[in-house]
Amino acid sequence: MTPADAVDRVRTKKRSTAVVRIELGTAVSVAREISEEVLAPQAAAVDAEQRWPKEGMAALLARLGGLVVPEHSGGMGHGLLAVAQVGEATGRACASTSICFGMHLVGSAVIAAQAGTVQRERYLEPIAAGEHLTTLALSEPGTGGEFWLPQTRMERVEHPGGDRLRLTGSKSFVTNGGHADSYVLSTIAVGPRTPPGQFSCTVVDAGTPGLRWGPEWQGFGMRGNASRGLELPGVEIPAECLLGREGDEIWYMFNVVAPYFLMAMSGTYLGVAAAALEETRAHLMRRRTRAGRALAGNPVVQHRLGTMWARVERTRRLIYQAAAEAELGGPEALPGLASAKAEVADAAEATVNDALSLVGGIGYGTDSPLQRMLRDARAAHVMAPVTDVLRVWAGKALLDEPLLEG
Ligand SMILES: Cc1cc2nc3c(=O)[nH]c(=O)nc-3n(C[C@H](O)[C@H](O)[C@H](O)COP(=O)(O)OP(=O)(O)OC[C@H]3O[C@@H](n4cnc5c(N)ncnc54)[C@H](O)[C@@H]3O)c2cc1C
Repeated sequence: MTPADAVDRVRTKKRSTAVVRIELGTAVSVAREISEEVLAPQAAAVDAEQRWPKEGMAALLARLGGLVVPEHSGGMGHGLLAVAQVGEATGRACASTSICFGMHLVGSAVIAAQAGTVQRERYLEPIAAGEHLTTLALSEPGTGGEFWLPQTRMERVEHPGGDRLRLTGSKSFVTNGGHADSYVLSTIAVGPRTPPGQFSCTVVDAGTPGLRWGPEWQGFGMRGNASRGLELPGVEIPAECLLGREGDEIWYMFNVVAPYFLMAMSGTYLGVAAAALEETRAHLMRRRTRAGRALAGNPVVQHRLGTMWARVERTRRLIYQAAAEAELGGPEALPGLASAKAEVADAAEATVNDALSLVGGIGYGTDSPLQRMLRDARAAHVMAPVTDVLRVWAGKALLDEPLLEG
């Protein structure tokens, strides 16, 4: 059975509980295949035209959309390691597409963590069948990188046809904004029995009346993301769109939201670093200077390339080790996960910068992929959890200090 056959077998089993499990290696092979055939050829145009990567997302959704959906809902049942490894494959080809797909995976994992029967049928099974794109809407203008403190309010409204939830507030940087079928959205639950400061997660369908999208995304990097603002002026959704119970989702932060967020971004930016390294290696093998002598024979560039490789490789090992440990629930999981994303942000930026030195003036042209990689890599530090927060979290975890206080 070829990898494609294996995936097709899963897809044809849609809406079934008896699913053939795709092994992680096969899923990563599929991601590489799509990355080479669909994502890479379009990466420059996605960036230049600032367009959401429709074709790449369709290809990924069709074959890997259910990557982290549990097998009982028709998905592949993978976890954090798969998100990181698939992210590396897609991030090598196009960081924008990789983050768009990564946010779908994070959203799927958040839904799966608390899904009841209705949510399984309405979201997880269509996601597993490659028919539904979801995404995350956590950040808000007022709270920025502190995405665990949403100010969007959720109130329960009695309705003859069944209780509804009224959502009032603003979301910012919603990746896949205006393109997803649903949005996993964090809110403060304001009810008489709910303690303040604890947030709830809901799923909001794209067609919900009253949703107001902000202007098109204008990033200097990650230009295909469609990371837009969203106004919620008291929009109402069915009460069954609440994930779990009101206000009980603080546990999501460290068990689901943060780990999946961190691995989706770590994989993507590892892919950017790996692509810059490969771009450099290929250039050095080709480039001849000084009367036909290969630049690859120069000991200075050999030393610099070796140093770049070590940086990328040690970051890869940290990311994959952290993902594997987190899946096992080991005590080192949080400092590992936090540091993995902080380290990859440094590594991606530094590796692309080094690549720009070694590829020289040829790499400085606007037709070089390195300029896109540098702009894309810079987002790694400011996408939440931001690097400064992650360093503090790692330190707090080592000191047994509470993570979200003080
Ligand atoms: C390309 C892109 C895609 C995105 N996609 C999504 C998405 O899909 N969903 C989503 O919910 N959000 C998304 N975001 C938002 C992102 O996760 C952050 O919330 C946002 O970038 C924070 O920006 P800000 O200007 O509000 O930062 P601020 O919160 O103002 O922070 C700016 C800086 O202040 C410092 N800082 C702030 N708070 C702390 C703290 N507690 N401890 C230490 N230092 C601190 C850090 O140095 C930080 O980098 C995206 C952002 C970008 C750029």
